[in-house]
Amino acid sequence: MPKFIINEDFPCNEFEFDKRFGNEKACRDYLAKMKWPDGFRCRNCDHTKYWISAKGLYICTRCEPPNSLTAGTVMHGTKKPLTYWFKAMWWFTTRKSGVNAINLKDLLGLGSYQTAWLWLHKLRDCTIRQGRERLSGTVEVDEFVIGGQKPGKRGRGASGKTIVFAAVEKESKKLGRIRLQVIPDCSGDVLEHSVMENVSLGSFVISDGWKGYSFLDESDYEHHEVVASHTTKKDSVLPGVHLIASLVKRLIISTFQGRFDPRHLQSYLDEYVFRFNRRRSRNVGKKFMRIAQQVTESTKRTYNQIKVRDFPFSLLAN
Ligand SMILES: [Zn+2]
Repeated sequence: MPKFIINEDFPCNEFEFDKRFGNEKACRDYLAKMKWPDGFRCRNCDHTKYWISAKGLYICTRCEPPNSLTAGTVMHGTKKPLTYWFKAMWWFTTRKSGVNAINLKDLLGLGSYQTAWLWLHKLRDCTIRQGRERLSGTVEVDEFVIGGQKPGKRGRGASGKTIVFAAVEKESKKLGRIRLQVIPDCSGDVLEHSVMENVSLGSFVISDGWKGYSFLDESDYEHHEVVASHTTKKDSVLPGVHLIASLVKRLIISTFQGRFDPRHLQSYLDEYVFRFNRRRSRNVGKKFMRIAQQVTESTKRTYNQIKVRDFPFSLLAN
């Protein structure tokens, strides 16, 4: 059974959080519990007995290489106490619209805006779980553009615009989970890749009449194509994705006054999806727990790696 189902230990509110995570040992114990839900296992020899060094490293009693909770993760090499990171994770996950770099810098008393900015990007990296379940059931798919004022032809990467693929589960009239992915263009190959990556086979997929979705007709998806007539408003054709598109655009405008670095858009979209898909969760602390779990499985990133992050076109890497 995957460990994210077994572990359900989280603070239910801010009082519980503050009471529990006020010192390094408590934070370390929690990360250890997330990293080894069935108890410590040496990464080198699989041994289960250990002792903890003064620096908080888990030392295997058989082969003795240190097992660090943070080495190799987004917290790699951090000089700040874990209590700072925990507080950042708490604010990031439990505040309705998250926390921005200026707020985080002031709240934690961090030395620079750059550090706060980097921390937030690292936490955003932890919002996506590898191998997460794809959307299923009835799913609307479409693309929308952010930035750039010039109208451009669909199917090509219009200059100055960033194209986002959106998939939205429909539960009768309500929206279920969503996925957002920055894509290089709206060609059939790209859209097929995005649908495959985000929507389970066998789902009922609703798209508009764009030829880039014609692959769906000869696939293991059920395809329903809606065509806007002159009398229907465009928004009423695919209401789910159009609602999400307008919410995302509003967020980008309010956060960045419309100016944003396209290289970081996927990161902000990931955070948005993380929040949106958990909007009905009653346990605020559960989101915190998810991020803490993801941190232990994350990969270290330097400032330069994040700053010059390439366009996150996962499909180009394949
Ligand atoms: Zn060992």
